[in-house]
Amino acid sequence: MTGTDTSCAFCKIVAGESPGRILYRDDLVTAFRDKHPISSIHFLIVPNRHIASVNNLDEADEQLVGHMVLVAKKLALQEGIAEKGYRLLLNTGPQSGQTVFHLHLHLISGRFTRFIIG
Ligand code: AMP
Ligand code: ZN
Repeated sequence: MTGTDTSCAFCKIVAGESPGRILYRDDLVTAFRDKHPISSIHFLIVPNRHIASVNNLDEADEQLVGHMVLVAKKLALQEGIAEKGYRLLLNTGPQSGQTVFHLHLHLISGRFTRFIIG
């Protein structure tokens, strides 16, 4: 299995469909700007492999999930928001408001008045 779902919007971004939006990329993850940002800084960090949600993670993914958080930290430092503060959010399942079923860690900073409420 390739770990890619050709109908998945985030697999398409990982595959290089929207190069202008990419902020960071390595062997495990890709980070890019949210298409409909809810704040001045709203990035998504996703595994390069298609994983639908937290519910689909297993023990072998521990390093991957830790890496997603460390990449978020790196981006926060780069953007100068590390000290001001930011939120890291993993929506999981329909009642959380998850709309894209490819695991993604939201990195959000700045003022915002809305977030998805299911
Ligand atoms: P969630 O509600 O946690 O599933 O969040 C999905 C996020 O993905 C939302 O903030 C959307 O604005 C964002 N999004 C959806 N499609 C795209 C896309 N093609 N490129 C970038 N961000 C997207
Ligand atoms: Zn995918």
